[in-house]
Amino acid sequence: MQGWQIRVRGQVQGVGFRPFVWRLARREGLVGAVSNDAEGVLVLAAGAAGALVRLRDGLAAEAPPLARVDAVEVADWAVPDPRPESFTIAASGAAGAETRVTPDAATCPECLAEIRDPGARRYGYAFTNCTHCGPRFTILRGLPYDRARTTMAPFEMCPACRADYEDPADRRFHAQPIACPDCGPKLWAETADGAALDGDALGLAGEALLAGRIVALKGLGGFHLACDATNPAAVAELRRRKRRPAKPFALMAGEPVLERYAAPSPQEWARLRSPAAPIVLIGKAGATLPEALAPGQGALGWMLPYTPLHHLLLDAVGRPLVMTSGNLSGEPQVIGNAEAREKLAGFADLFVMHDREIARRLDDSVERITLAGPMVLRRARGQVPGTLPLPEGFADAPQVLALGGQMKAAICLTKNGQALLGHHLGDLDDALTLQAFEQALEDYRALFDHRPEMVAVDLHHGYRATRAGEAMGLPVERVQHHHAHLAAVLGENLWPRDGGKVAAIVLDGLGLGDDGTIWGGEVLLGDYAGFERIGWLTPAPLAGGDAANREPWRNLMVRLDAAGLAGLADEILPDRPREPLRRAVAAGVNAPLSSSAGRLFDAFACALGVAPERMSYEGEAGMLLEAVAAGAGPVDGWPFDVAGGVIDPAPMWRAWAAARDTPAPEAAAMFHEGLAAAFARVARDAVSQGRAEAVALSGGVLQNAVLEAALLRHLDGVPVLRHAKVPANDGGLAFGQALVAGARALA
Ligand SMILES: [Zn+2]
Ligand SMILES: [Zn+2]
Ligand SMILES: [Zn+2]
Repeated sequence: MQGWQIRVRGQVQGVGFRPFVWRLARREGLVGAVSNDAEGVLVLAAGAAGALVRLRDGLAAEAPPLARVDAVEVADWAVPDPRPESFTIAASGAAGAETRVTPDAATCPECLAEIRDPGARRYGYAFTNCTHCGPRFTILRGLPYDRARTTMAPFEMCPACRADYEDPADRRFHAQPIACPDCGPKLWAETADGAALDGDALGLAGEALLAGRIVALKGLGGFHLACDATNPAAVAELRRRKRRPAKPFALMAGEPVLERYAAPSPQEWARLRSPAAPIVLIGKAGATLPEALAPGQGALGWMLPYTPLHHLLLDAVGRPLVMTSGNLSGEPQVIGNAEAREKLAGFADLFVMHDREIARRLDDSVERITLAGPMVLRRARGQVPGTLPLPEGFADAPQVLALGGQMKAAICLTKNGQALLGHHLGDLDDALTLQAFEQALEDYRALFDHRPEMVAVDLHHGYRATRAGEAMGLPVERVQHHHAHLAAVLGENLWPRDGGKVAAIVLDGLGLGDDGTIWGGEVLLGDYAGFERIGWLTPAPLAGGDAANREPWRNLMVRLDAAGLAGLADEILPDRPREPLRRAVAAGVNAPLSSSAGRLFDAFACALGVAPERMSYEGEAGMLLEAVAAGAGPVDGWPFDVAGGVIDPAPMWRAWAAARDTPAPEAAAMFHEGLAAAFARVARDAVSQGRAEAVALSGGVLQNAVLEAALLRHLDGVPVLRHAKVPANDGGLAFGQALVAGARALA
């Protein structure tokens, strides 16, 4: 007889790992015990050598669906005398407490089968879950993770659930949110004025949706507003009530219904069906849906039902539903019942409520699959609080708290070679979002047992996150916005701290440069600790300041003027107040210079007539231009001038002006192609001159798949680092800030 002590690291708590080890050990005829501790799971096992090897190999190979095994480490174990008679699961005392919590996970196939089985105890039950699926982070109030510290605490388990919970052979062994119709949360429907309705809540909701009504639905991480996505009048009414003219709506449908409107690739199906169950942007195919769902967009954002509640509702309607966040414009999603009655009464005709509280607000995550691979646009439900490993060379870095940017705010904490990149919070200009930001700081610090030694912030003093960081009384590391983007893409690719420099193409909206101007179309040569700016788009004034970020025509006018095409600007923009604006620009009034690539996209979208007069959401004109360009075949790019790293679009404007009969798809594609060629050339040169080891791509504009594909073509043969797990937009900024601060502290 031999004894092994096996340490398992990774996401191994709260996922049914101990009962899984118990079953494995019993199958192999081993004796010993399995327990949780601060480092993960510890297995003490004794038996035949071959059985121990099979146990060790099975730990990773047969792990439960939600587990992620990072390491299995074996040491000798001196088997006590007398030796254990069986294999046991150590009770959860203080030492055995679960110190980590996993992300929320979509309903597993077994639970789905149960809610559809008329003979099952949980038939039709909207809160069915098990150790392989269900709510986690959204119901967590504190650690260690057990039922008493979740919003399931008020629900006392019935004897049948208790028996499942205590049976190691059951799928619900130690499933903290375990529930059934006898003992768990209840669902009901009520009218917009708060009167509870008798009858099956989901049946009533289904009828209302099929009749074209709008339903507020309390889900996992917040309230959604739902309507029939095939009903143009319902979609238009939802837009009218929400005062949301154009921003795309997300859709939810079961698989057979989704297949009528889209043809997901195998990779897209894999993401849709993953436990994280994000929204995935997928091209249109098959039957058409109302254009108003996502005006001007080539792709629609789809998700599969991810809780039993959603499955039951989708089964009842048999068609796709709009599932957009239930919030007042600019505010975070509503999570409380009373708050929903107060704020959503003007939007919804019917409410579907339940009595399980939402402890944490989490939006739906958003992803897309491009030719180059997966891309995360919004990191939230299903992905947090997952951790990211830090690259080689950061193991001894201090604990850093990084606070991110202003829009798409998210925070990041680093410790022991791991980074916890928090969920998407939104725009910190909103008071409630700022409150959520402060709450997230408290939450994640407690969750990660984090004791920050320094705080990392953006250079921009006007950002609320920057000011919050400065007020913490900790050493402050200021990180240039696009340097943080560079570090974020290096970090997620595990580029070692001493891996050398890269040439980073950072195409973005706006970020404060270290020369006091506003950057956003840059090639930075650098690493985690520092950078130099070796390429940039010729700056242009943001005419009217912030108004230039919302009104694309302002950017078109200044770019045409700079290219010597003022007459063309007058022709294209006859009704705009051009002359007062030109005088202000000439006088340098409210016209800060910016090299933003995002604003150049706005300008070209306006030139082609695809941009709105005033954008109603961030990135709108750029997304519309991408959608137009996606309709073109291969093209040659418009000419951009590249001299000494300065990328000047003036020749592009003149070439386009001379060929204005070019069809919009080709013209838009030529814009993407020309811009990509120019930036790729600057970055390539840095590599071929031996100044950079690789090229890195980041910044919000890199969410554009047409642009990414063009850049990759022009970078063929050069090592390229891109974002796959961390958002290229400002949702990834804090991760980069933390790495820069860590690298500087170690230098
Ligand atoms: Zn399940
Ligand atoms: Zn029960
Ligand atoms: Zn940015």
